[in-house]
Parts: sequence; structure tokens; C-alpha cells
Amino acid sequence: MKRLFNFSAGPSMLPLPVLEKAQADLISYQGCGSSVMEMSHRSAYFEPIIQDAEATLRRVMNISDDYAVLFLQGGASLQFSMIPMNLANQGDTTAYIVTGQFAKKAWQEGKRWGNAVAIATGEASNFAEIPEVTPDMVPEDAKFVHMTGNNTIFGTTFNTLPDVGDKTLVCDLSSTILGKDFDVNKFGLIYAGAQKNMGIAGLTCVIIRKDLIRSDLDPVVPSMLRYDLMAKNDSMYNTPPTWAIYMAGLCFHWVEDMGGIKALEKINKEKSDLLYNYLDQSKLFHPVAAKKDRSLMNVTFTLPTDEQTKAFLALCKDRDMINIKGHRSVGGCRASIYNAMPMEGVQRLVETMADFEKQEA
Ligand SMILES: *Cc1c(COP(=O)(O)O)cnc(C)c1O
Repeated sequence: MKRLFNFSAGPSMLPLPVLEKAQADLISYQGCGSSVMEMSHRSAYFEPIIQDAEATLRRVMNISDDYAVLFLQGGASLQFSMIPMNLANQGDTTAYIVTGQFAKKAWQEGKRWGNAVAIATGEASNFAEIPEVTPDMVPEDAKFVHMTGNNTIFGTTFNTLPDVGDKTLVCDLSSTILGKDFDVNKFGLIYAGAQKNMGIAGLTCVIIRKDLIRSDLDPVVPSMLRYDLMAKNDSMYNTPPTWAIYMAGLCFHWVEDMGGIKALEKINKEKSDLLYNYLDQSKLFHPVAAKKDRSLMNVTFTLPTDEQTKAFLALCKDRDMINIKGHRSVGGCRASIYNAMPMEGVQRLVETMADFEKQEA
């Protein structure tokens, strides 16, 4: 069966073994006579699925018992609201590092709830660069500092964590989770939409230090937006996204089968190096992100004219490579090369860039 190299930023490619496993289980999960999509979330079949997904994620990311793992809905975007509502009281000061479009949205949602301060922004460079953050920039009374680990749209990343002193660091890892090794203990809360690097749309993972889960919240906070209720009910306060949790579990096992996050990070480094090395010597293609802040996962680049961009994307499509068009706020091209993108896909892209450059010269 034909499979394309899909460079989409999300929803993105899934590992073939994951799709094959899902296919084998699709109609009758382990011979039980129902698909996972048709079972009660409280059934004897589903409970082990969610428990195994959590246990596998804990092993893969080395998450200690000090943290709760929550499987929620609403995308990473709902966390922009849930985080301030659960970690701060109305009117409290919170701090945001604005490094891209999603970071900005998080900040804007934060402002609905309290005094959300943008302590640093990369807007002057159209987010091609990560601004420097020092502890003295963080307001004394900030309940947390929010950062976006990897900026999916602009192709930049924090190659080292910002120094926020003793403040609680909250991180949107939607586009790097499982692709790069992180020490969970450095964060108060990590969240990620699953559809980029850990499964399919419909699931959001939240990893939160248990002491940050509060029960004395403002009564205005809706039940569905309370971490304490979600944690107390093992993510089953209401019907969880059962199929998405099942798919995420398969992805976590795949990461383990591949040798774990460190092994994947090494491959991801090789993949992104191949692209950046080509970009650095090219006379036609131009990398967007500042060299020191380049993303391992989303490689952004431009061509001199819109006509050339169109012609290049058409050539990619002819060669079974899709979704390389850049986000409208950056233009040009973006190759998202998450865990499931094989090295062969990146090699084919670089060969195609070289062919196109020769043709244009
Ligand atoms: C995609 C993305 C989001 C938005 O995710 P949804 O699940 O669509 O809400 C937020 N932050 C980052 C870094 C992303 O890449």
C-alpha cells in the first residue's frame, strides 16, 4: 500500500507499526468481539488500556510518582485556559515567555484570568529568535512562568531551558514531547496535544507535579477544567477519548521498541542536521530560524520568490512528499520531521532540494 512522506506539522505521520497494530485490533480488540471505539471506558478491556498507556509513558519519560499524568481533551489550546485557572487565583500575576503564535495565545488566555505579564518576546525578529530570560525578569509574585518548548510554526526551540530561578516552570511541549529527552523534574507542569508526536488528535496529555493540584479553586472554575477532579478520577471523570488514548499507548510502546527517547533524539538530530547542513550551504534555500535556536522538529525555510516556492512544492508532491508548505505567518516551507518521519523521507527531501536548486541555477 502506498504511503507518502507526510511533513505535516500536525496531525502528522504515525509510525507504520502503530497503524498496523491498530489495524489488526480494529474490528475485534484482542478477539473480544468489539473495537476499542465501541467499548465502555469502564469495561474490563478499556481500563488496562488506559493504565498501560500511563505506565508506558511514565517509563518512557521517567516520570516519578511526584507527578500525575492526565489524559484530557480540548487540545493544547484548552490548557492555555486550564493552567491559569488551576495554578493561580483570579487577578494573580503570571509570567509568559512569548516565542511564537501558540505562546502568544497562551498569554492572551492567561490575561482573561489574571495579570499575565509577557516577560520576554521574540516578536521583533518575527519569532526567528528565542529571547533571553534571566531570573530578575520574572515578577516576584508570579505563580508560574509559561514557556513553549518548541515553536511549531516558526521552527525555533529552547535549546536550553530558561532560568526562572525558583519559579514554577510550565511548558507546552506539544511538538517535541517524546522527540527529545527532558528532565520532567525541572517542570511544574508539562502539556502536549497528542497529534504531533504522541498519537492522534483528541487527546491532550498533562503531566503535573501533584503539589500543584489544588482543590480550593474559585467556584467559577468549571468541573471539566479542574485538574483535581481529573486526577481524582484517573482521567475518567467523564468519557475520555478512548481511541486516542489507545493510539497514544501504541505510540508510547513504539518509542520503547525504538530504544527510548534518547535513541529517537539521536535519529532526530541526524535528520535535522541533514536538512540544516543543506540549507546552510544552499544559494537558493534560506533557513528562517536563528542558528542557535533551531528546532529539531520543524525546519522552516524560504525560497526567493513565490513562484519558486510553488514549483518546489509541486516537485515534492510529484515525489510523494506532502504538506511542506509553510504556515501563512512565515511563508515559504516547513518540514515537520517528528519521530515517525523516517530518515529516508528527509534524505528524499534534501535530494529534491538539490535537484531543484540545480534546475534553477
Ligand atoms: C499545535 C500546537 C498547539 C495547539 O494544539 P491544539 O491541540 O490544536 O490545541 C499548541 N501549542 C503548540 C506548541 C503546538 O504545536
